[in-house]
Amino acid sequence: MRPRRVVVIGAGMVGLSCAWSLQDYDVEVEVLDRGRAGHGASWGNAGFVAPAFTVPLPEPSILRYGIRAVLDRHSPVRLPVRADQELARFLLRMTRHCTWPQWKRAMAGYRGLNEQIFESFDAQLSAGVPAEIHEADVLAAFGDVAAAAGLHHELAGVAASGQRVEVDLLSGAEAKAAEPLLTDRIGFAMRVRGQRWLDPVAYTAALAEHVRDRGGQVTEQVNVTGVRRHGGGVVVECSDGRREADAVVLANGAWLPALAAEHGVRMPQFGGRGYSFTVPVRQPLAGPLYFPGARSALAPRGDRVRVTGVMEFQRPDAPLDHRAIATIIRALRPLLTGADWDRAEHRWVGARPLSADGIPLVGPSATEGVYVAGGHGMWGVTLGPLTGRMLAEHIATGATPAELAWLDPTR
Ligand SMILES: Cc1cc2nc3c(=O)[nH]c(=O)nc-3n(C[C@H](O)[C@H](O)[C@H](O)COP(=O)(O)OP(=O)(O)OC[C@H]3O[C@@H](n4cnc5c(N)ncnc54)[C@H](O)[C@@H]3O)c2cc1C
Repeated sequence: MRPRRVVVIGAGMVGLSCAWSLQDYDVEVEVLDRGRAGHGASWGNAGFVAPAFTVPLPEPSILRYGIRAVLDRHSPVRLPVRADQELARFLLRMTRHCTWPQWKRAMAGYRGLNEQIFESFDAQLSAGVPAEIHEADVLAAFGDVAAAAGLHHELAGVAASGQRVEVDLLSGAEAKAAEPLLTDRIGFAMRVRGQRWLDPVAYTAALAEHVRDRGGQVTEQVNVTGVRRHGGGVVVECSDGRREADAVVLANGAWLPALAAEHGVRMPQFGGRGYSFTVPVRQPLAGPLYFPGARSALAPRGDRVRVTGVMEFQRPDAPLDHRAIATIIRALRPLLTGADWDRAEHRWVGARPLSADGIPLVGPSATEGVYVAGGHGMWGVTLGPLTGRMLAEHIATGATPAELAWLDPTR
């Protein structure tokens, strides 16, 4: 039976998209967030909506990065020094997925999602979400051709899965013509055509506004401490009392395990924290820019550029570590000219909700009426609207397309 009222926990890109899509089925929604809407991982990210890059995280080179993280304090991958049992369990499980055969299997699943990404955004925008999305090519820049081997291999794998990928190979001079802020250190680039980008702060704010305009509630500063089945519905225990609903969606990002574990979600998860900041630039960035060697993605922000990077395996609520920002600047200074690195502002850290097998967790939990929308890792902005659409359809109609079955959160 179609639920009349659904509570969504977490007002990030994923939770807001779930609520928005449920409204298409005339479901009454309330979205709860313990902070402010859109201020989790969905805030300071790069805002790439890039199906060509939306691939499983675990692959063999991650293991090399892991070793470098232990040996090199300037590595863009950071591991805590102290022992952490949950992290050990997560890394052990992820390591098992770091093989090309596993990656290819997971990529076949991603392909089914990736081909629906743009239409999931178009559905939101054409229904009136007051936001913008920009068409763009992503320029991936390297010191030389040899340094591009990893991305080349990955994009070949994406194409082999059947997904359309269009890439131009550029010399250093051609790369600089495309992006004048690149320095002479860049000797080779790959221009990945037909991607998009957005300002995630503006986009999630617009989504929250539209959920409210369509009659939903987005309630901030309410912490959810537990969710349980009661009578014919679900009870949500909150810092300001309790809510009752016919169904609940757990969309609380990197904090998902705290609420989902007791509902049969066993997949190890961990926060892969990333950092961002903005710096003034001599001229606006021509488009989204990616430095795979530095694991850093840059997005235009008018006369500034938003710089993102680092993968830090750390608790989501740990304080921002300024050394991580210094690591990003140190890596990018030789690669980008005309940026005033001493005026880095809007310094931010957020936790990518990683699942150990690199596949999102979306669908019904083991508890009737409790649904999960999480584990989107590196790509929750890109996949948020599609997750919302698939899960809302499932909750409202019971339909389980193959792409959704693959994301089973109790796997
Ligand atoms: C540096 C960086 C760059 C990135 N770049 C990109 C990119 O270019 N493209 C892309 O697609 N993705 C990118 N990502 C990943 C993307 O940001 C995340 O996958 C996505 O934001 C996850 O969205 P979410 O809604 O699941 O989580 P969040 O946005 O974190 O939302 C979860 C919300 O739940 C709330 N919450 C948690 N616990 C509770 C509770 N108990 N009660 C109530 N509320 C609770 C939190 O306050 C939070 O607001 C990047 C991430 C980082 C860190």
